[in-house]
Amino acid sequence: MKIKKIVLTAFLIFTAGLLFATEFTVKGDKYDITATYDDTSYPGEAFFVRLTIESHKKNIKLNIKANAKLSGKKTIAKADFYYLQPDAKAKNVTEMLVGLPMWSWQAVEDNTKITVTYSINDEEESSFELPVTIAPKKYPHERIELDAKLSDLIGNPNPEKKEQSRVLNEQLATVNPEDVYEYTGFIRPTTGTRITSEFGQTRTFVYSNGKEAPSYHAGLDFGVPTGTEIVACGAGKVVMARWRIVTGYSVIIEHLPGFYSIYYHLSELKCKEGDIVKKGDLVALSGATGLATGPHLHWEVRMNSVCLEPDSFVKNYAYQPTEESIK
Ligand SMILES: [Zn+2]
Repeated sequence: MKIKKIVLTAFLIFTAGLLFATEFTVKGDKYDITATYDDTSYPGEAFFVRLTIESHKKNIKLNIKANAKLSGKKTIAKADFYYLQPDAKAKNVTEMLVGLPMWSWQAVEDNTKITVTYSINDEEESSFELPVTIAPKKYPHERIELDAKLSDLIGNPNPEKKEQSRVLNEQLATVNPEDVYEYTGFIRPTTGTRITSEFGQTRTFVYSNGKEAPSYHAGLDFGVPTGTEIVACGAGKVVMARWRIVTGYSVIIEHLPGFYSIYYHLSELKCKEGDIVKKGDLVALSGATGLATGPHLHWEVRMNSVCLEPDSFVKNYAYQPTEESIK
């Protein structure tokens, strides 16, 4: 009964894309596999794919291992499937998110596809292709003038800054297959609604010496006063809660294998590394620490290190499971 309940929760899954999901079935000698997936997504968002395996024989324990590659003119992204119920005996449902980098529109062509490679019960590997569309999406541009202090913070080499960047990138590239905490989409981490910088905005930093450097915005900024409560956008494990030179007091929460949310420029931490948090739990107070031109929350989401539009994981879920949809 317990497992059934977990499966039920599991079906209330990320991305409202499921509402418009496409199904693709591969009929095999021993097994049929149904892929339920988003056939359209946008640069900076994700494709969601769920595989359901059915054996032609009854009472066969199933264990599927699968990975996927998204490609157009070249490989755009790769991801492994994870189990939503890693402890369940019958591992016949597996899911994944393939994040689309902001630059992925450059790779768009007619035959963009997700290639799923899988092996069931350690038998021979096989694969199939899911045709997908990456719809066009443009991001705005902004110029940011930096004073001498901030110019120095960005422009000057600093071994400690370099080391902090290495540690951060290593964490964001870490995929723990068993770490499945959040099944149901995100909430925004603040009740503040004033967006001061959109996700994906291309940027020109203008240094105090007049030099310019191109950049882009990897998250979504909310202009909120210092001391505003910041909550976890989803259930997860706090994998970073510490000071960083560029981003000030910073929090990172792991939600799914390779899937993280990030909170920067905080004035105070209200969680510690290793904490398990629920969606909506207080994790910090906002501020203007690190590279910030004023008090705001920088909220970022990464899947396998790819920055994704955080708001694309905040949806109203019209899809509701029924008893019949739970096996
Ligand atoms: Zn930001």
